[in-house]
Amino acid sequence: MLEGHFELSSGMHSDRYFQCALLLEEPRRAEALAQALAERLRAKNLQFDVVIGPALGAVTWAYEMARALGARGLFAERQNDAMCIRRGFVVKPTDRVLVVEDVITTGGSAREVIQVLRAQSVNPLAIGGIVNRSGGNPFEKDGLPLFALADVEVKQWKKEDCPLCKAGGKAVKPGSRAANAPAPSTSTTGGGRT
Ligand code: ZN
Repeated sequence: MLEGHFELSSGMHSDRYFQCALLLEEPRRAEALAQALAERLRAKNLQFDVVIGPALGAVTWAYEMARALGARGLFAERQNDAMCIRRGFVVKPTDRVLVVEDVITTGGSAREVIQVLRAQSVNPLAIGGIVNRSGGNPFEKDGLPLFALADVEVKQWKKEDCPLCKAGGKAVKPGSRAANAPAPSTSTTGGGRT
C-alpha cells in the first residue's frame, strides 16, 4: 500500500494505492498469499481446473493461484480494446473456473473476462482477489462470490473534490498505465526513424 496522492485508473483521486506488482515481486511471498486464498476456497468446497485473470495486472496472480489450486493458469488480454483469450488457451464449458484480479476497485477488467468466458458457454464459479477496495462485492450482480485476502475501504474522491488537490498537490498515476514511462526518446543510436 503506497501513501501519497494518486490518480486511479478510474480517474478518481486517492491517498492510498495498492501496487500488487511490488507485493508479488518476491515469489515466496506470492506463493504464500496464493496458498492462503486457496485454503479459503477449499474450505468452501470449491475446486478449480482453470484460473484466469486479465493481463497485465493478474498474470502473476493467476499463475500463483493456479499453482496453489493444482489448476491451469491462463490470462486474458486486450486486443483492439476488447478483452479476449488468445495464445491457444482453451477453456471448456466443463472446466471449473476461478477468475482472479489483483486489486478489485470496480471489478471492470475481471467482469470483461467473465463476459468473454460466458460467451464461450463457460460459467466461472467465483472471483479471487488480493485486495478488495470496493467496499462490497461488485460481482454480486454477476451472481458470483468474491474471495479476497484483504477488504480495505479506501477514501477516494472526484478530482474536483480532492482535498489533496485543493491543498495544492499534484496527483501521480502509479498504475500500469503510463507509470514511470520513459520520456519519448530522442536517442540517435539506432540511426533510422521508426
Ligand atoms: Zn487530487
